[in-house]
Amino acid sequence: MSHPDIRPPATEWSAETVLESLRDRFGLDGTDLEPLGGELDQNSVVRLADGRRVVVKVASPGADVAHIAWQHELMRRAGAPGRLGGVLVPTPARALNGETVVLVDGEGGPRALTVQNWLDGSTLAGLGHHSLELLAELGATAARMVAALADAPGPPTGETHHWDLVRAGSAVAAGLPAVADPTRRAAVTTLIERHAEALATQVEKLPVAVLHHDLNDFNVLARRAPDGTHHVHAVLDFADALRTTRVSELAVAVAYAMLREPDPLRAASTVVAGYATHGELTEAELAVLFPMAAARLCVNAVTWTARSAGQESGYGQARMRHTWPTIQRLAAIPVELGTAMLRAAAGRPLEPVRPPRPQVRALEHNTPDDVGGHLEPAERRRRTSATGEPETLRLGTSVDARAPFDVRLPADGVVEPGGEPALLLRHVPADGAPYWSRWHGVAPQDGALAAGASLGTATRLQVGLFPSLAAAQLAGRLVPAGELTGWAAVSPDPGPWLGLTVAHEPSRPDRVWDAAHVVAARDRHFARSQRSYYRRPMNLVSGRGSWLYDDLGRGYLDAINNVTHVGHANPRVVAAAAQQLGWLNTNSRFVYPGIAQYAERLTALLPEGLEVAFLVCSGSEANDLAIRMARQVTGRRDVLVVDGAYHGNTSVITGLSPNRYKGPGGTGPDPTTHEVVQPNLYRGEFGYDDPAAGERYAADVRRQARRLVAEGRPPAAFIAESAMGTAGSIFYPDGYLRESFAAVREAGGLCISDEVQVGFGRFGDAFWGFESQGVVPDIVTMGKPIGNGHPMAAVVTTREIADAFDSGMKYFNTFGGNPVSCAIGLAVLDEIEAEGLQHHAAETGRHFRAGLETLRRHELVGDVRSHGMYLGVELVRDRVTLEPATEEAYVVSELMKDEGVIVYPTGADNHVLKIKPPLTFTAGDADLFVSVLDEVLDRDW
Ligand code: PMP
Repeated sequence: MSHPDIRPPATEWSAETVLESLRDRFGLDGTDLEPLGGELDQNSVVRLADGRRVVVKVASPGADVAHIAWQHELMRRAGAPGRLGGVLVPTPARALNGETVVLVDGEGGPRALTVQNWLDGSTLAGLGHHSLELLAELGATAARMVAALADAPGPPTGETHHWDLVRAGSAVAAGLPAVADPTRRAAVTTLIERHAEALATQVEKLPVAVLHHDLNDFNVLARRAPDGTHHVHAVLDFADALRTTRVSELAVAVAYAMLREPDPLRAASTVVAGYATHGELTEAELAVLFPMAAARLCVNAVTWTARSAGQESGYGQARMRHTWPTIQRLAAIPVELGTAMLRAAAGRPLEPVRPPRPQVRALEHNTPDDVGGHLEPAERRRRTSATGEPETLRLGTSVDARAPFDVRLPADGVVEPGGEPALLLRHVPADGAPYWSRWHGVAPQDGALAAGASLGTATRLQVGLFPSLAAAQLAGRLVPAGELTGWAAVSPDPGPWLGLTVAHEPSRPDRVWDAAHVVAARDRHFARSQRSYYRRPMNLVSGRGSWLYDDLGRGYLDAINNVTHVGHANPRVVAAAAQQLGWLNTNSRFVYPGIAQYAERLTALLPEGLEVAFLVCSGSEANDLAIRMARQVTGRRDVLVVDGAYHGNTSVITGLSPNRYKGPGGTGPDPTTHEVVQPNLYRGEFGYDDPAAGERYAADVRRQARRLVAEGRPPAAFIAESAMGTAGSIFYPDGYLRESFAAVREAGGLCISDEVQVGFGRFGDAFWGFESQGVVPDIVTMGKPIGNGHPMAAVVTTREIADAFDSGMKYFNTFGGNPVSCAIGLAVLDEIEAEGLQHHAAETGRHFRAGLETLRRHELVGDVRSHGMYLGVELVRDRVTLEPATEEAYVVSELMKDEGVIVYPTGADNHVLKIKPPLTFTAGDADLFVSVLDEVLDRDW
């Protein structure tokens, strides 16, 4: 193109000159002018007398008019309706002489003048965050641009220019001496070498096309849709248009999409996937794409460093703020991995690489239980950055043994220097490509080693295999799950090479239905009322502790499963269930030890007098039975419930759950249901500042109980959760249950505590929620955490009530209290005790709460509340009107899920983030949750 690599700045035109030329040559009457940034042209935005805005471009001196006219031809083609899928490009205005480019004399000599319409929107650079949808649209736009320009003529002049990605090497060489920082120079050198290597073998095979060639983050505009999501709206600036390798269009888009991203490969993959839906990518193009995108950032950083040497601010400096960190991140990603990930994103199947053949058996020790498989979830995990995906998968095979074992080398190898603390070896098999092995846990060695050579003894060993020395040096010992398929294609499984057998089967993507398949089948065979979490749900295949893993091995921190109280796949619970299933399972009319042991253990945890248990299968069933008992024992029908409560799904309980009968599709309460005012300190009549709020809210219970007595229909019972879950983590003020229970008992009613959400130590300072209110109920119902996910629930009451319930009618429950459930229930209680989970809940809860409190700086956060490890963050649009931020709560949850953290809205308006993780949740997990929520709330969505 016309501009040389580095040019002296041109004399600026004054605003008067610009406006005068605009009037004289285009007949447009500008009222005011604002300068815009630009690389070489002098650009301004001018408001016209009729209110429209236009962009006026004064080309750099000596710019080629024919070339600008060619750019206008490309704009015309790309701007034809539908060519870019609704994305706009500017339209060049015609001057009074009919041309779109005119030469005008101004300060410093004649310059080419052009005018185009102003397009609204924020630049991608100006958006704090790019959603995956937006990045995919960027890729699709690149593909459509290539298609729109497919038949365009080549440029009239200038076959290449400084930014031509094929010439990245020479562009960087020219400016590199200006880069003083040695780590930056090293990173650039690495990336430019990769680019040269990739191009050397592929360049002849790369298709050539006319391109926009500058889909950078300042040239692509996005607009916000009414639902708050951003979409690609327009593409600006055809000044760098070129005929060159077709893949450059995508490489440029990928390059800038990686800026500011903690996980550049994920951003890059998303852009490539978007491109692949609308354009073709050949094998040669895929082979150069990752190095080319990285090289573009190098040209950018080096060029601007050279041009702005000595300047502290300005366009160049702003351009580079995010570029250098990304360059350093990219240089740390093995090129083989980057390329594999982008190939996968383009829809190419990725096959796991086959392990090399060993010459001898390396490990005599082979107890499969000690062996950790390649790319399986590891016991330990590491986070890379505030929002990067946690590293959860082991790269390579590990052996953790109780006694030292001998380690031998499976194949001839030569030690590579400088691998410490790992031992790195190069292997060159007679019949295949060279590969590298990396050993952690053995002593350093030197020189050439023959197959079978001793590497000493070890108790902990981790071995990985790699296609290059650089990959062996750069790869971590743990990798994020999002990179699973990429690593499987790059790094062979060392298990067979070492002669090891892996104990457990990894949950690999090829063994399960993918998310789309599962969702489609669900939609076909389930009713719409059976909703799933999330707009784009993850497809879960396993869990461990506080983490869940999807079919791609991606890890999610679970902040909502109070059911899996002692952690997902808790080994004690799993072993107890498996063992008991192998021995005996039957119904509770038979006599077996487990049921007696469990009843004794459970009732021992309750206050004196609560000693008779009914073992059932769900929280709903427990509440249903409790209500039935209360009605039968008192001979009354009417029941008091707290406004907003949820107690379950049976017909009777639905009529006693305001959250359902008043919610969408609700048909109102049963005639015997009576709501009392919800004691809500944030929204209710009596607030946090009222020390007597508990008694004041309880006064409504007294009022209603007395009214029912007066009406001759005294209450059978008052049922209350010990803290309100589904209503939105609502905690009662002191004295509330004490006063309420007293009022109900005064009216002859029974008090039922629903502990389904909060029981079993979650509150930290109490094992049961009601204890924190200083009351003892007549009937307690429990569910969710009781069986750690196994369908199990219970009702516990007094001997007196249980006896009164015995009218002669049999109570039978086929599954309730079966031997497997009881074994699981016992294991859960053992685990709570052995791990000190109640105490842990108190400490972690305090820490978590403190972290969440810091988020009050976000306007959206109306209230933060908690008791132990039951927490809630209430989101509001307005801190005065307290308008619920329902949509926002869904968006926040979806975005957090995309960042690997599971949370979900609840409450009458679904605007409270419910937080009730497994009690295995650590302070570090809480910090991670807070940092991700903080980051998501900071985004401009
Ligand atoms: N009580 C409360 C307080 C609950 O939150 C729930 C479930 N969300 C239930 C009862 C019903 O339990 P289940 O779903 O096991 O029937």
